[in-house]
Amino acid sequence: MKWSFRLFTFAGTQVRVHITFFLLLLFVASQSFLSGQGVSAALESTLFIITMFACVVLHEFGHVLAARGYGIQTPDITLLPIGGVARLERMPRKPSQEFVVAISGPMVNVIIAAAIWLGLGVTTRVHPGFDFLQSGHFFQKLMAWNIIMVVFNMIPAFPMDGGRVLRAVLAMFMEYSAATRWAASLGQGISILVVIAMLVNGVPFHPMLLLIAFFIFMAAGQEAAMVTQQEATRNLRVRDAMLTDFRSLPPDAKLRDGVELLLAGAQQDFPVLDTHGGMQGMLTRNDLISALAENGPEHAVVEVMRRCPESTQPAIELTRAIESLNSSDCPAIPVIDPLNGELVGLLTAENIGETLMVREALMKLRS
Ligand SMILES: [Zn+2]
Repeated sequence: MKWSFRLFTFAGTQVRVHITFFLLLLFVASQSFLSGQGVSAALESTLFIITMFACVVLHEFGHVLAARGYGIQTPDITLLPIGGVARLERMPRKPSQEFVVAISGPMVNVIIAAAIWLGLGVTTRVHPGFDFLQSGHFFQKLMAWNIIMVVFNMIPAFPMDGGRVLRAVLAMFMEYSAATRWAASLGQGISILVVIAMLVNGVPFHPMLLLIAFFIFMAAGQEAAMVTQQEATRNLRVRDAMLTDFRSLPPDAKLRDGVELLLAGAQQDFPVLDTHGGMQGMLTRNDLISALAENGPEHAVVEVMRRCPESTQPAIELTRAIESLNSSDCPAIPVIDPLNGELVGLLTAENIGETLMVREALMKLRS
């Protein structure tokens, strides 16, 4: 993630903190300082916020270590003001494993709260107006925070852990994609209910709650869409979906040559190849048009083309290649033959879409 710094590395996972997190600390410290409680109160609230986020890190490590047990690595965890994000390489597809990975985070907070309760004999009453910035009662507040984390994370909606737990349980009885759709719909249903409850004033209006409801609604839809796409592209390789009949430009081409190719066919983005067929970059339609208006038709293509450092290979799984395509700032990624380094195809969103349509039609024919 951009604008984040490495704090430390534990068990192969980097713990990073986003710069906005320091703004939060600054905000909290100044809030309690300005409220007239003095420097020690400001220090205390800052320390408490740091401890709160230490609990978030431990929660994320619950997921990370459980995933490691199934051979899944986690390159990093990033702390944001809204919480932690652990970037697992992938989620396990086996329901029982996803269940364990998802529930391990909240279990860490259960253990912390239980340890405070049993070890220190502290009890707490959590209520909506609980003020974490009030000074004193350090361990009571910490216990309350861990209980809140459990409750919040176990909301049965994506992207909360509860949503994954629910999907894992459903997937034990039905297909993975159906389980995802059910879990996503339930998440969206819950967020709509929260908004309705707020509108009819059953729940006091709370902008933060509205934001969370909106966030859950969007995330649930995204998760369902992602799984649907994964189902559709399952067992497909890059070579099944790549564009093989394409035109290219030599390195000494002018924008005029690009225009000629653009108008001659349906292809919109053109690879620039050196004399040995090696890929140098890509001239996209949008870049071509804007450079044409600015520099005229005699301008060199190499000055306008994008470098497109991402590439893929014919035998790679299509699902993985789509991820590279999505993260690339080029509309097409080159497909390179690993044996001779030659460009053998282009992977574009349009072509993937067509491949999926054809596959769906053939599946209908068979059933
Ligand atoms: Zn979690």
